[in-house]
Amino acid sequence: IPDVKRKKIGVFGLGLSGVATCEALAASGAHVFSFDENRQARDKVADTEYRCEHPKNWPWKELDAVIVSPGVPLTHPKPHAIVRKAKMEKVPVMGDTELFARALNALEPRARPRVIGVTGSNGKSTTTALIGHILKQAGEDVYVGGNIGEPVLSLPAFESDAIYVLELSSFQLDLTASLRLDTAVLLNLSPDHIERHGSVEGYLKAKKRIFLNQTEKDLAVIGVDDDYVQGVCTEMMARGTADVRPVSSGSALGRGVYALDGKIYYNLDGKTAQAGDISKARSLRGVHNHQNVAAAIAVCEKFGVDPALAVKSAQRFEGLAHRIEEVGRNGKVLFVNDSKATNADAAARALNAFEDIYWIAGGKPKEGGVKSLLPLMNRVRCVYLIGEAAVEYEEQLKDAVTCVHCSDLEKAVAAAAKDAAQSEAANPVVLLSPASASYDQFKNFEERGEAFRALVSDLSATNGEAA
Ligand code: ADP
Repeated sequence: IPDVKRKKIGVFGLGLSGVATCEALAASGAHVFSFDENRQARDKVADTEYRCEHPKNWPWKELDAVIVSPGVPLTHPKPHAIVRKAKMEKVPVMGDTELFARALNALEPRARPRVIGVTGSNGKSTTTALIGHILKQAGEDVYVGGNIGEPVLSLPAFESDAIYVLELSSFQLDLTASLRLDTAVLLNLSPDHIERHGSVEGYLKAKKRIFLNQTEKDLAVIGVDDDYVQGVCTEMMARGTADVRPVSSGSALGRGVYALDGKIYYNLDGKTAQAGDISKARSLRGVHNHQNVAAAIAVCEKFGVDPALAVKSAQRFEGLAHRIEEVGRNGKVLFVNDSKATNADAAARALNAFEDIYWIAGGKPKEGGVKSLLPLMNRVRCVYLIGEAAVEYEEQLKDAVTCVHCSDLEKAVAAAAKDAAQSEAANPVVLLSPASASYDQFKNFEERGEAFRALVSDLSATNGEAA
């Protein structure tokens, strides 16, 4: 990291990215002051040189910057105390991605690797991982990180021939000013993610920062399936600051990459061609995933990967855990882990991807509940309700579908597996897609998904079959 030698820098928030930031700063010669509100997080740096003290004891008059974790509110509902304090003391606030960007900008042009960034309300992780997968299959040296996997400052040191693929949340973009991406992807925008940005406009503004500093040589891949992002696409094309490639799932485009009925088409030089069929890819089920595929193909083409080859690679993509993930089969019953679906919108996408569903739902209820899912209940044979949401969700669903109270995941899996096995359906699916947060019974959605996976594997073991 350039220009930090002997500088005093505060690091607020000691999650994975915070600790990586301390390490990178110290390695570059900075004096680090660190803090986290959580005691366990503080313990992680207890015996290090990153002086862990309450920010009120930091030498504010001498600090050159404060690096805050992406979770720290900058504006909404009100700025975190650390952000207000830094403003008052006139100390710049930034994120780890900004440090990454400065390190990148300090390189000689010839030593600069290519960097791809992906943002959007949904599909960031899938698209980032898919781009990484396709480029790797094409023989490129690829490093994937950011909001997924390794924090940006833990990625291997810059290699000029490598490609860095970064997932970037709007929080990270808000804290970054100097990043210039060779290829920037904005997938979609759904207004239910606005908590921290205060308004849809604020949220959209943060997302648009992904294109900041781009030039005509750089590529902007933009989804056009929702009005917000469609607007950004039109604006970017008019401005001409980057080479814009629109992508869509569901609409044919005059120019760009799009998916229609599971087939991928591209038109990047005046004629339309088909790149292949993605409908059989088990890890990319559902129309929403086809948007991710279209975006990944638009990106990889720029890096020299033929779209037809890219589709072939995508068909072999293993997918990410907890997102419509097949975790086992027991006789004719397929078990699918969609623990990441913490709201009704996400659950709708999983419910749309299957039929004859034995659906496990519930947890800590989300506002609005599951009423919006009523039209999908014709795909559902029975609902197994768990957690705090059980009573409320039953109330909302019971006129359309049979609901069974199971209190916890173990009972729900046992009941759903039994009913599915005994049903006359040829291909029944036991689907965990909770439409709720997990915090009432689990630490997070990952732990809930792992519990489901373990229960499914126990079931298969008892029946003498491999999961
Ligand atoms: P993110 O990293 O943005 O949270 P993920 O790739 O982890 O996104 O996917 C999370 C969930 O979002 C998926 O389980 C699916 O329900 C939904 N999803 C994925 N891609 C899209 C998309 N392109 N449009 C809408 N929803 C999507």
